[in-house]
Amino acid sequence: MSWQQYFVEAQEKQRQQGTLRQLNSFEHHDTELRRQGQSWCNLASNDYLGLASDHALKQQFYAQLAKADAGLSASSSRLLTGTFSTHSALEQTLAALFDREAALVFGSGYHMNVGILSAIADKQTLVLADKLVHASMIDGLRLSPAKLLRYKHNDLQHLEQLLHTYHGDYERVLIVTESIFSMDGDIADLQALVQLKQRYPQVALYVDEAHAVGVRGQTGLGCAEEQQCVQDIDFLVGTFGKALHSVGGYVVCSQVVRDYLVNHMRTFIFSTALPPLNMAWTDFVLQRLAAMQARRDRLQRLTLQLRERVAERYDQHLSASHIVPVVLGSNEAALSKAQQLQEQGLWVMAVRPPTVPMNQARLRISLTADVPEADFERLLTCL
Ligand SMILES: *Cc1c(COP(=O)(O)O)cnc(C)c1O
Repeated sequence: MSWQQYFVEAQEKQRQQGTLRQLNSFEHHDTELRRQGQSWCNLASNDYLGLASDHALKQQFYAQLAKADAGLSASSSRLLTGTFSTHSALEQTLAALFDREAALVFGSGYHMNVGILSAIADKQTLVLADKLVHASMIDGLRLSPAKLLRYKHNDLQHLEQLLHTYHGDYERVLIVTESIFSMDGDIADLQALVQLKQRYPQVALYVDEAHAVGVRGQTGLGCAEEQQCVQDIDFLVGTFGKALHSVGGYVVCSQVVRDYLVNHMRTFIFSTALPPLNMAWTDFVLQRLAAMQARRDRLQRLTLQLRERVAERYDQHLSASHIVPVVLGSNEAALSKAQQLQEQGLWVMAVRPPTVPMNQARLRISLTADVPEADFERLLTCL
């Protein structure tokens, strides 16, 4: 079979299954998406704090930016000449905010999870990962020779059982979870995970706060801050591309872990460092995160209202965060409901397998702190 034919057939198969995806290009005007004379309120973005529409904040950033920090490329990987003062400053800001020994920044959250997990988990490692962890963590674990077992989503009893049964067979054990789960919006009990891992000296905990940083915690540092266990998580990772309206990933950890990663992590070593400009912006936002409580409060208020509405109309397990899924089952049902909302000027997207398990296709509504009140009211009505 020719390559051409192979691709055509693969796409035809996806089309029949209702899983064919395509790229949509938009003009972005704050929370509004525009295309070909139509417009929608964006309810599918990860700009949870609504910073994309804060033009004053961006102006303030550019006004104080030193010319030396405005570089548009690092032109090198971190270990060569790609570590600029903005990279170091950002890592110091992170370590200070989280009150941890060290921090390290990566090109993206995807690089972060793929790189860290494949670097730390060897043949003598058992990895126990939540059934619903993000694809980037699974990909990292696929690159490692470690033994991988998945525990039922947020089921700490199942985790404890696996830990009890298998921990003796491996030198080290790593528990891997997200704090807020991307597709379900529910939250891991980090304190309970910490207590569990503390019963075994060879167990470490890896928590991805991609959807929580900026949004949760008294100063916006995430669920670990909210649950008062920042100091007890061995690998506390997160991303800048969501609530922080920037780009990149980070880990806060001990100095020895940082040194190990700098020496072993292939996505860190063999990839160009992020541009100095982006590092300066991320640093600028992080330093103002604690003061963004009003945004977190509005997001929380909208979240509670939306959850109440979904609970009334749809009989399902409720999200505990600003990510509110409406599970509809079949791909057709999810696509048709999404289309109905889109016709009402609300850009809500259907999420289908393989992103979510089979027969759990859903709408994934992600709220941002700057959703206009009128659009939000329309969303409540249309649901
Ligand atoms: C978005 C996401 C990532 C990937 O981060 P990028 O910076 O977009 O590459 C990693 N982990 C989780 C849980 C995410 O939701």
